[in-house]
Amino acid sequence: MIDFRYQGLPWNIVFGAGSLAGLPGELDKLGFSRALVLCTPTRRDRGRMICELLDTRSVGLFDRAVMHVPLQTVGEAVARAQRLEADCSVAIGGGSTTGLGKALALKIALPNIVIPTSYAGSEMTNIWGMTENARKVTGRNDAVLPTLTVYDPELTVSLPRKFSAASGLNAMAQATANVTTTEVSPMVSLMALEAVRVLARGLPRIIAEPDNLDARTEVLYGACLAGAALGTGTTSLHHRLCHTLGGMFATPHAETHAVLLPHSVAYNAAATAAETRRLAEAIGADDAALGIFELATALGVATSLKDMGVRESDLDEAAIVATEKTCSNPEPVSRERVRALLENAYRGVRPQPV
Ligand code: NAD
Repeated sequence: MIDFRYQGLPWNIVFGAGSLAGLPGELDKLGFSRALVLCTPTRRDRGRMICELLDTRSVGLFDRAVMHVPLQTVGEAVARAQRLEADCSVAIGGGSTTGLGKALALKIALPNIVIPTSYAGSEMTNIWGMTENARKVTGRNDAVLPTLTVYDPELTVSLPRKFSAASGLNAMAQATANVTTTEVSPMVSLMALEAVRVLARGLPRIIAEPDNLDARTEVLYGACLAGAALGTGTTSLHHRLCHTLGGMFATPHAETHAVLLPHSVAYNAAATAAETRRLAEAIGADDAALGIFELATALGVATSLKDMGVRESDLDEAAIVATEKTCSNPEPVSRERVRALLENAYRGVRPQPV
């Protein structure tokens, strides 16, 4: 029996090593001539490089993108875009910079062009997020989808090994949530399973050879597919837990995904037995949760919440906050079981059903 709903998203993608060189021509084709370039403070050099590449098509650089898109930063960027009469934004960076471009699209309908340099996959989703008073609000709105995404794997070679691994597991989490779900759409799971395969194969190659452009290309493609699965699919308890811990304790986004993922997969394994088997096959392991745990260990990513500065005394409160609103998830969600999951993630033990 095949029975599903699927709604696609209007992605517009250029993918390939060296594709950045075509950016000015792409802007011309889209009819944009006043781009506001966005980047983080640490990647200002990259922002300047885009301004130079765009030449007269760039009206300025906003270099204050930060993690979780604070509302105050959005306000400053909106004022800058309006003062410069920008007709589009060009975001170069990871999910934080992409998130700022999305926020401008949502707030002032500024078309956004994205050049992803990490594996967050945000550019493929219609999910936006903004933070005020340590609370992150998220939503889905097709208006935040990039008008164009330019994936150039050469830009990811500079990602440090450790962050490459964590960011790649962030991508794997986007895909995994759309394999181990009871709302399976065969269209979405095609993208999700291929993403898992490509990421499981490519990430160890990056750790062995960070400069290997083939490996970088493979993982960026995996991130693109994983983001596509998230954009057209669903989220579950795993994403709820990552957002809860990020909001409460400012744990780093990609690393939080990496630590929790094996435990989230173990939590849902009984309710999604067939899907979890397909996930294991894609990873190339006998057991999906253990396969992800062993992959993370081999990649050298943090495997415990303790390593990220979370205290054992924080776990009760985190379990309360994570379960205070209902969460759509294959396995029933209870505070006690979430507390047990968090305890395992805190200790960094092998994943097991709770
Ligand atoms: P990030 O964008 O904050 O990047 C982390 C750091 O790495 C930054 O300092 C950045 O400048 C630097 N960096 C990025 N690319 C680099 C490169 N190629 N070389 C060297 N340094 C580089 O982190 P992230 O993990 O990419 O994104 C996390 C954010 O994205 C979170 O706010 C998260 O909520 C959001 N996100 C949103 C979605 C969505 O669908 N809306 C999906 C995934 C992540």
